Amino acid sequence: MATIFSKIINGEIPSHKIAETDDYYAFLDINPLAMGHTLVVPKREVDYIFDLDDEYLAAMTVFAKRVAKAVKEAIPCKKIGVAVIGLEVPHAHIHLVPMQQESDIHFGKEKLNPTQEELAKVAELIRQAYR
Ligand code: 5GP
Repeated sequence: MATIFSKIINGEIPSHKIAETDDYYAFLDINPLAMGHTLVVPKREVDYIFDLDDEYLAAMTVFAKRVAKAVKEAIPCKKIGVAVIGLEVPHAHIHLVPMQQESDIHFGKEKLNPTQEELAKVAELIRQAYR
């Protein structure tokens, strides 16, 4: 059965897309830790990120770097925090989280619940900054 992220990539489930290549897809987390929280996922349906082969993982990191650059440009923050958790959705993904302070990337804290309109606005800002 396809993972929820494969359904997002295929367009069966809507998402606020940031960028896409032949191999990867980036979109806003629906319950962000901070506004601009973005997920970068491989189109290959692999659960554990370190099961991806070297070349594919390296290229995913380079794609995540481009996305992070756009998030940083669009969202005022000190740095973009990077995390791989993967316990909830069994489809490898990199979390990119704008941080003002370390606690902004604590996954135990209560997540935000923005409206679709708020997410759409943030996604548009990040897309405009994506090169
Ligand atoms: P993890 O697997 O790394 O623990 O967490 C999965 C992340 O995916 C969570 O931050 C959660 O908010 C996000 N997520 C889960 N389902 C959806 C969804 O349907 N759409 C979007 N945009 N994000 C999701």
